Amino acid sequence: MPEGAGVPAPPHAVSKLKAARLARSTKPFLARGGPKGDRCPGCRLVPSHCLCALHPQTPARAGVCLLMADIEPLKPSNTGWLVADVVADTFAFGWARTAVDPALLALLADPQWQPFVVFPGEFVAPERVVHAVEVSAGGAKALPRRPLFILLDATWPEARKMFRKSPYLDALPVLSLQPEQLSRYRLRRSARTDHFCTAEVAALCLALAGDDQASAVLEAWLDVFTHHYLQAKHQLPVDGHGWGQLALAGAVQDGAELIQFLNQSSTRRRSAGSTGVLTKRSRQSNRLI
Ligand SMILES: [Zn+2]
Repeated sequence: MPEGAGVPAPPHAVSKLKAARLARSTKPFLARGGPKGDRCPGCRLVPSHCLCALHPQTPARAGVCLLMADIEPLKPSNTGWLVADVVADTFAFGWARTAVDPALLALLADPQWQPFVVFPGEFVAPERVVHAVEVSAGGAKALPRRPLFILLDATWPEARKMFRKSPYLDALPVLSLQPEQLSRYRLRRSARTDHFCTAEVAALCLALAGDDQASAVLEAWLDVFTHHYLQAKHQLPVDGHGWGQLALAGAVQDGAELIQFLNQSSTRRRSAGSTGVLTKRSRQSNRLI
C-alpha cells in the first residue's frame, strides 16, 4: 500500500449506488478532468493521495436521502459521496422519471423520519414551504421524529425536472434556506459562487437540525477532499506532513480534531478551500437552495 494510503472505509450508500450503476453500464464511464489512473475504492482518489486514513466519524441525529441523477454517483468529484462518508444514516437512490425504488417509498413512509425536500421555495406552492427544521411527534407516546433531508443531487435543470416529476415528494414539506442564512454561510466559508455543492447544502441542513458537530465535520471533510483532489489532479504532493500526523493522531475517531486542525492552519484552510472543485462543479451543478 502506498505511503499515506489508509484502509478504505466499508462501502456506503453512494459507493453501492455507484457500483450498481457501473454494473448496468454497457460502456465505461470516462470522467472529464480529475486525476487519471487507479482509484482508491474508499475515497475515489489515486492511491498516493488517498485520504481514507483521515476519515472522520461523528454522530448525527438527522439523516440524508440523496436522489441522484443518473451519472452523478459516477462523477469523481461528486460531493454526495462525502455526505455519506460523514452522516451514517445517508441513503442514496438513482432517480428515474418512470420508476421509483420501493425502498425509497418505504424510507419516506418510515415513522422514525420526518422528511424535508430541500429546494428553493420560489418554485413551490407557499403552503409547502418551511424555513426551519421542526419535527412532529410520531404519535402520542412516540419519540420525536428525526429529520431526513432529501437532496436532489443533480445539475440544476435536472433537479427541477426531478422535483416536478416525482409525485411521491408532493406531500412533503419543502425546506427552503433563507437568503440571510446563505449569505452568513457564504461569508464564513469565503465562498466565491452563488451556488453550493451537495455537501455544503447538507452541512447547512445539519446545522439547522442542531447537528452542529456533524455539520462542521462535513465542511472540514469537504475541505480535506478538495485539497487532496486538486493536488492529485495537478500531480502535486499533499501539503506537508500535517495530514499524516493528523491521521496518526486519530482524526479517524474524532471529527473534532479534523476541524481543529483546519482552523489552526488558515493557510491550509485556504489552500484546501472551495475554489477548485466547487467552482467548477457549481457552474453546472445543483441549486438546491
Ligand atoms: Zn482512499
